[in-house]
Amino acid sequence: MKVITSIRDMYRFSENLRCQGQTIAFVPTMGYLHEGHLALMAEGKKKADHLVVSIFVNPTQFGPSEDFSTYPRAMEQDLEQCRNIGADAVFTPGSADIYPEGFQTYVQLEKLPLHLCGLSRPVFFKGVATVVTKLFNIVNPHVALFGEKDFQQLAIIRQLVKDLNFGIEIVGVPIVREPDGLAMSSRNKYLTPKQRPHALLLHHSLAAAQKMVAKGETDAGKIVARAGEMLASCANIRVDYVSICDPVTLDEIAVIEGAALMAIAVWLGETRLIDNRMLVQANHI
Ligand code: AMP
Repeated sequence: MKVITSIRDMYRFSENLRCQGQTIAFVPTMGYLHEGHLALMAEGKKKADHLVVSIFVNPTQFGPSEDFSTYPRAMEQDLEQCRNIGADAVFTPGSADIYPEGFQTYVQLEKLPLHLCGLSRPVFFKGVATVVTKLFNIVNPHVALFGEKDFQQLAIIRQLVKDLNFGIEIVGVPIVREPDGLAMSSRNKYLTPKQRPHALLLHHSLAAAQKMVAKGETDAGKIVARAGEMLASCANIRVDYVSICDPVTLDEIAVIEGAALMAIAVWLGETRLIDNRMLVQANHI
């Protein structure tokens, strides 16, 4: 496995494979890898001849009061995991390579960021769209894989690829959970043993919502209210949003008739947690 730090070497690596008619799958990450990331990589290996993973904690997607400096990092362990799963290359650029002095071009979507996480994290998706665009240009993959855990991010990347004519297939990978149902996340490391059971309330609220829908409830307001009550039962949780929305436009839905995504974001102490699931009506199961 090659560990590539310079942009020029990354270009060359991809160009060389492309010249030989080989295909490249790409998994962008911020490191501190867990089973969720590994599921993306495993899927990537199925989709192309070679797998490239990037590890880059992207400063432009963190707000000034967010956790950029404390975001968990474990480069040696991460490289070992990439090696074990059979990645061909890991791209680990520095901030100054990606954002050199004088950098001033950003990628910003008009509508999709005006929902869900974009409301409380105003710079987040501008940072994500910009870094993913740059990584796509540098790695030049045929396929790129993203987790459904960050559903809004996946929707934004799909739109960006369409709008900017990237010839890259975007593959969404289902959420990987801990055995008790907590969605895996690098930020779960922040949770104290006391907070850890409370984090399960996101998963439980989504499961309760699915039960209501399976029993025939179509009023999104009632389902959101029930989830709000469940989350409010824990005094340490501060709800950012509970939303039932169209999975493509992310516009809120009042009545569940077809595809509906339920998404939740909360603060548990200092840690922001997100989770989501599609709500499926009984006649669609
Ligand atoms: P991150 O390192 O948090 O930026 O995540 C890198 C990629 O892994 C993103 O596409 C995430 O959506 C995906 N990912 C993170 N956690 C999970 C999970 N629990 N299940 C599936 N994909 C995930």
